[in-house]
Amino acid sequence: MSKFPTVRLRRLRSNESIRELFQEVRLSEKDLIAPLFVQEGIERAVEIESLPGIFSFPLSSIAEEAIRIKELGINSVIIFGIPSHKDEEGSSAFDYNGIVQKAVREIRKKVNDLTIITDACLCQYTSHGHCGFVKDGKIDNDLSIKVLAKVAVSQAEAGADIIAPSAMMDGQVKAIREALDDHGFSNVSIMSYSAKFASSLYTPFRYAANSSPSFGNRMSYQLFYANAREALREIQLDIEEGVDIIMVKPAIAYLDLIYRVKSLFNLPLAAYSVSGEYALVKFTAKAGMIDEDQVMLEFLTSIKRAGADVIITYFAKRAAEILKDKYSH
Ligand SMILES: [Zn+2]
Repeated sequence: MSKFPTVRLRRLRSNESIRELFQEVRLSEKDLIAPLFVQEGIERAVEIESLPGIFSFPLSSIAEEAIRIKELGINSVIIFGIPSHKDEEGSSAFDYNGIVQKAVREIRKKVNDLTIITDACLCQYTSHGHCGFVKDGKIDNDLSIKVLAKVAVSQAEAGADIIAPSAMMDGQVKAIREALDDHGFSNVSIMSYSAKFASSLYTPFRYAANSSPSFGNRMSYQLFYANAREALREIQLDIEEGVDIIMVKPAIAYLDLIYRVKSLFNLPLAAYSVSGEYALVKFTAKAGMIDEDQVMLEFLTSIKRAGADVIITYFAKRAAEILKDKYSH
């Protein structure tokens, strides 16, 4: 039996003040992690064509950009390196003088109280563009996790707070946890790209990082988008291997998973709103079809509503500008 007219949900929507009072999810700049691209061989910041408004920075101005991010109230960055040297092993990924290691030291030296996360993968550093070590034309899982552990240790040595392995190799969290502990980095956390799908939404990032595989695709290690149960198993395994923060990537097309992961597991959950999600909004807004800021806020709030504790997003700076304005009076 309907409770109408006694019950009227519109009462709590009748003006802005009451709507704000009963708003259920409130996005904050503190929820956001800003991606930061650092590139070898450039003199000044270069805008990434596939990601309008996002820049690649040379080492010389990376700390300045980190300071700008911090000033917007954002507490954390995730660093992606674009090296000029690539080889079969991806050796610049674990080089003491690798671009990420240098960037971490530079930011650490000049910026206080910023949580530095480093992406740990091989695809930006290998000549073949795969996330693992290739042997006889195949990705060798067990060799790959040894290399990833070296990458993680080198990033921790440089000063990273959180290592974010994104290669989707079996056993990568365990290998990294053991290597970090063996080298005295038991306080460095691991945020694993636990459920990373082989998504067509990564294309704009690959233009930026020049990391498309030169042969085959990533279906032998990343998840197929039709598989939710398998994604939950991946997360379960990462937890057993000692992960601190789990992640679902991408975000907007996977809100059902974010919701399920949040209800099933008691760990901090990150969602990565990927380059394609950003580009879809940017280019549609450029064509005059949508309001960019409004769609951005709707997307980010939805990701949080689904259950994400933190969101990696290319919109971090713009969202922080708006959110600071909105809640600072
Ligand atoms: Zn990769």
